[in-house]
Amino acid sequence: MTAWEEPVTRGTAPRRTALHLKVLALALALAAVVLLGGCGSAATTAGSGADASGGVAATGAATQAPSAQPTAEPSPARTPKTPQSTPSATPTGSTASGGAGKGASSGVTTVVFVDVGQGDASVVKSGSWTGLIDGGPPGSEPAIEAALAKLGVRRLNAVVVSHMHADHTGGLSRIVSEWRPRTAYLAGTPTSALAGDLRGAGTTVVQARRGATLRFGSARAEVLSPAGLSGDANSDSVVLRLDAGGKSFLFTGDCTGPNEAAVGSICARGTPIDVLKVAHHGSSYSTTSAVLADTRPRVAVISVGPNSYGHPTPATVGRLLAAGSRVYTTWRNGSVTFTVSATGAMSVSFSRSSQPVKKATAAGSGGESDGGAAAGTAAGAASSRASGGTIVYVTRTGECYHADGCRYLSSSRIPIALKDARDKYRPCSVCDPPI
Ligand SMILES: [Zn+2]
Ligand SMILES: [Zn+2]
Repeated sequence: MTAWEEPVTRGTAPRRTALHLKVLALALALAAVVLLGGCGSAATTAGSGADASGGVAATGAATQAPSAQPTAEPSPARTPKTPQSTPSATPTGSTASGGAGKGASSGVTTVVFVDVGQGDASVVKSGSWTGLIDGGPPGSEPAIEAALAKLGVRRLNAVVVSHMHADHTGGLSRIVSEWRPRTAYLAGTPTSALAGDLRGAGTTVVQARRGATLRFGSARAEVLSPAGLSGDANSDSVVLRLDAGGKSFLFTGDCTGPNEAAVGSICARGTPIDVLKVAHHGSSYSTTSAVLADTRPRVAVISVGPNSYGHPTPATVGRLLAAGSRVYTTWRNGSVTFTVSATGAMSVSFSRSSQPVKKATAAGSGGESDGGAAAGTAAGAASSRASGGTIVYVTRTGECYHADGCRYLSSSRIPIALKDARDKYRPCSVCDPPI
């Protein structure tokens, strides 16, 4: 375990322990149509969703959208019929039944980027409140449940589904059915299978929109995106900024394009991000230099595993390193666990290597260990060559691929099979490489 060096002075979030206060607040919010712009940007839709027994409150622009509301909960404050124990959790979860015996950890927030291979699954535990952000690709259930067990979690309060792609939802069916989270936050319509699982579990579905603030135990999570739905699942990813003990985590799903830029400009107004969950597994089309300049992440975690997309791309890793971030990947480091004390001291531990990524080399077989990355690419290139494939070149930070000899290859020149380059890079307009 590596201790973070800096002392942090910010205290814990204010606590409210009386359930009736919360119900009153909810009633006021519903009656008065309170506008709470969580992050200073357009909170255009009022409304609130709250989970009186799950320790979660969504204020601001998180709306119960009837059209995309498969569970059709008439009132989010009403206790759904689930086998969960008597609602006793407060917003801070300090008396939550599921956290019995864990009172000593109240005020401590733990974030685990679970090693689920190529996909995303993150556990957030704040005191006795626990949430899961994405459910990894199919087959992730054992890894997720092992992470929950390791934290002593017996109750899952909420799930956040960043978007409906299988590498984020694959393990959710069983998790939702078995753990019966009280609340699911998502943007847009869930797949019919997930909608059925959520309905079966009695889970309240809350549409997350920019401007909403969600209570994750003693931590707060602001929804930074989407403001609306574009129809592109990756772009519409739910993006959350979690603040706990003075430390900030940015969960980005597979966000990209204008929405990612908007997230950047919101973050630019605040303090640097302590831990960035890198968008889209390190795709070159996300995590732009501009977004990095805005978010200034101290640590970046890429949730990624063996894949055919070339994730994480050398371009993205290069941009992160250039931005001064310490870079970990679940592929290389295994599950990555951050623990933030109530006073803001942060530590990190790993289920595998503790060595951060030092070079922006292409991923591939063996590519997640020092020195092996280039070998991975070279091996890929060699096998491609052997099979008659065409080799082109990319750079550490560029978005394009090039023919040998292109002037853009002066600083770095990484061979890559054309068939792989086509997926992730644009052909250079100067050297006109094969397409
Ligand atoms: Zn996606
Ligand atoms: Zn994804």
